[in-house]
Amino acid sequence: MSIICTPAADLDPAAAAYDFTIPANRPWSHVVKAGQTLRIVDLEGCQAVDTLFYAAADFSERYSAQDTLLAQGSAYVTTGTKLMSNEGNVMLTVVADSCGRHDTSAGACSCEANTVRFGHHTRYMHACRENFVVELAKHGLTKRDIVPNINFFMNVPIDPHGGLAIVDGISVPGSHVDMVAAMDVLCVISNCPQVNNPCNGFDPTPVRILIWNGEAA
Ligand SMILES: [Zn+2]
Repeated sequence: MSIICTPAADLDPAAAAYDFTIPANRPWSHVVKAGQTLRIVDLEGCQAVDTLFYAAADFSERYSAQDTLLAQGSAYVTTGTKLMSNEGNVMLTVVADSCGRHDTSAGACSCEANTVRFGHHTRYMHACRENFVVELAKHGLTKRDIVPNINFFMNVPIDPHGGLAIVDGISVPGSHVDMVAAMDVLCVISNCPQVNNPCNGFDPTPVRILIWNGEAA
């Protein structure tokens, strides 16, 4: 299957309205306004960036992996993908992608899933669901508001029979994805702390978030 890579638009990081580096393992959230461009940079490569979006005006409207896959007729998120809400509205559009492979089928890691995948001795380890719960609480949301997410930079090939596997990442240091918001969205990220599978190269690393205003994009 082909992997589509497109270069970034000519956006100057020094001109960004927002610039923040999410440390390894940590959660983060921020509102991206309609017309702004959101860039996620995989600073060191092979980091999974678990991401949720909520309509800032009404959190009951939120990212829908199912509607996104249905709308694209594709199993992957890449340049041109419209990230759809559960109300059938476009939340953001991916406009550039130097990695070419982002998953929205495998979900976020949880302590429970990790024990199944990696053994009961991993039960104590921090997982993306805990990160999401902590970050969502800042906005009055709870565990029940976690929906299937996007795993930016996570490589999950899906075979013709629907089987999927989390395999070695293909993102390199500096890989990035750019999205233009179609509505004001709350972006919630868990910079995945998982050390037991290859999606993080067994070593979680920081990612950088840049946001440019519409007139700069
Ligand atoms: Zn995770």
